[in-house]
Amino acid sequence: MERVGSKAEARKTVADAHAEHKTVALVPTMGALHDGHLALVRAACARAEYVVVSVFVNPTQFAPGEDYETYPRDIDHDMDLLAAEGVDLAFTPSAAHMYAGDAGVTVDPGPLGARWEGEVRPGHFTGVATVVTKLLSIVRPDVAYFGEKDYQQLQVVRRAVADLDLAVTVTPHPVVRDRDGLALSSRNVHLSAEERVAARAVPAALEAVAEALAWGERDARALEWAMTDVLAEEPSLAIDYVAVVDPATLEPLDAVDRAARALVAARIGPTRLIDNCELLPPAAAGEPAPAHRKGSE
Ligand code: AMP
Repeated sequence: MERVGSKAEARKTVADAHAEHKTVALVPTMGALHDGHLALVRAACARAEYVVVSVFVNPTQFAPGEDYETYPRDIDHDMDLLAAEGVDLAFTPSAAHMYAGDAGVTVDPGPLGARWEGEVRPGHFTGVATVVTKLLSIVRPDVAYFGEKDYQQLQVVRRAVADLDLAVTVTPHPVVRDRDGLALSSRNVHLSAEERVAARAVPAALEAVAEALAWGERDARALEWAMTDVLAEEPSLAIDYVAVVDPATLEPLDAVDRAARALVAARIGPTRLIDNCELLPPAAAGEPAPAHRKGSE
């Protein structure tokens, strides 16, 4: 595996792969890699002949006072993991190299970037949309992989690619979970043993909403209450939002009479947890009810 820190080197190396008519995949990450990231990397390796993984903790997607400084970092271990997966190129730029000191142009994520995570973390999706556009412009992949774990981010990226006519196929990957259901996240390392147990309420809330739907509840507010009830049982957990939304626009729905998405965001101590699952209303009478799909385990 080759590792480069400069944009010019990354461009040149990927251009060589393109010249050999290789399909190029990009998996953007912020490092502290876990099996969730590696699932995206494996999907990329299965699909493309040349796989680039970027490891970059992007300062512009952290609001002042957020955890940019304390975000987990373990670049040597990350490089070992990526090399073992057969990744071709690790792109590991510094923040000073990614952003010129006088950089002033950003990518506006539009209305999708303003709600849910965007409301709790002002400017977050401008940072995400900008860095993803930059990475796509530097690497010029044919396909880029994003996890459904960060569901709103996936939708923002899809919109940016569509609205800015970026020549890349965005491929989503289902949420990868720990054995107890908690979605894998780099930030989970900050959870104490007790907090880790409390965090289990988040996937439990998603299980509860899927169950309520399967029992015939369609009303979106009632479904949100099903989630809130489970989260409220855990006193150490503070809810940022729960929502039942349209899967593309992320607008709140009144009723789940078609595919929808349940979103949860909560804090345990200083650690923020976000999670989500698809909601599929049970099929018409006579057909078996579809199980809710919350991603691969
Ligand atoms: P991050 O390093 O947290 O920015 O994540 C990099 C990519 O990996 C993003 O597209 C995430 O959505 C994805 N990802 C992180 N955790 C998971 C997970 N548990 N399951 C699926 N994808 C994930």
